[in-house]
Amino acid sequence: MKKLILILLPLLFIMACSSSDDELKPSTEKPKPEKKYKNIILMIGDGMGLTQITGARTVNGGNLHMLNCKSIGIQSTHCADKYVTDSGASATAMSSGKKTNYYYVGVDPDGNPMETIIETLVKDGLATGLVTTSTIVHATPAAFYAHQIDRFKYEDIAIELVASGIDFFAGGGQNYFDQRSDGINLIDSLLARGYQVLNSPDEVTEIKKTALFISPGSPARISEGRGPVLQKSTQKAIENLSKSDKGFFLMVEGAQIDWAGEENDPDYLMDEMLDFDAAVGVALEFAEMDGSTLVIITGDHETAGFALTNGNLANQTITGKFVTWLHTGAMVPVFAKGPGEEYFMGVYENTEIYFKMMKYFGY
Ligand code: ZN
Ligand code: MG
Repeated sequence: MKKLILILLPLLFIMACSSSDDELKPSTEKPKPEKKYKNIILMIGDGMGLTQITGARTVNGGNLHMLNCKSIGIQSTHCADKYVTDSGASATAMSSGKKTNYYYVGVDPDGNPMETIIETLVKDGLATGLVTTSTIVHATPAAFYAHQIDRFKYEDIAIELVASGIDFFAGGGQNYFDQRSDGINLIDSLLARGYQVLNSPDEVTEIKKTALFISPGSPARISEGRGPVLQKSTQKAIENLSKSDKGFFLMVEGAQIDWAGEENDPDYLMDEMLDFDAAVGVALEFAEMDGSTLVIITGDHETAGFALTNGNLANQTITGKFVTWLHTGAMVPVFAKGPGEEYFMGVYENTEIYFKMMKYFGY
């Protein structure tokens, strides 16, 4: 036994020295850290402030998917020329990092085009996507690819979408592509660029560039039978974009939370909040499994000054009132989950969302 130890000890000594020798060798190039930050899913509830969330939590029996996030921040939403923003200027702040004027998308207050996060990522070969329950040319998605001083130039914005290189988009508004005043058929342009053009998320079976038009004009409300198209489109977008080796960016919008507020309709508002939160659930489930995906959930501004004047937790009911048909200037919460979630804690301007996301991607 002693003999064996005497033979083994020097051997162990040599092994130990040789391995530490390797570690001490000076490295000739800077070590490249393994990139663990890969994907972002940015989820925007249009018009979603804290009372919209509180109401939805109540009618849903006490919880929401978004409330499972531990890193929470608050963002200020005012735009360059007004205290109360529109959706174009607030989405531009998040897509491009600069406050701009009311009704502007993807341009600065002087009207100069700004490179959006999607345009930067497309150039660098990452996969990108947009999913919404409005038309795909509406202000919120448009701020990620279009450059207009008038957000209502939907036909011009559609031309910009076709040229954008975005890999997957889903929303309403096919009319702006195939029933245009200039007679141009942009569906043909999409097909020529290699897109599959579909009308239902159930038709998305191939991993390739996808234009998914869920309605000719504005998509229906949940109460009018829209169905789980937001969740299904989010799922299909993730399946497609997650095939990218370089990572992906996906923006998902619950657009009609805002429209319900503008109609001062609490039932419509709660339907759209729960529909959006179900899509948040799809994103969080993927992120949990994937491990390299950050999910950010926020609003672009509060809509209608929604107030909860009464409610009942046991019966899951609320009494809601609105002070206006317009947006308000209230700050809105930001929830984050996944690698880099700590970037989103604190109180900051909406423009910081852009810089935090760019930092996450290594810019
Ligand atoms: Zn909005
Ligand atoms: Mg919107």
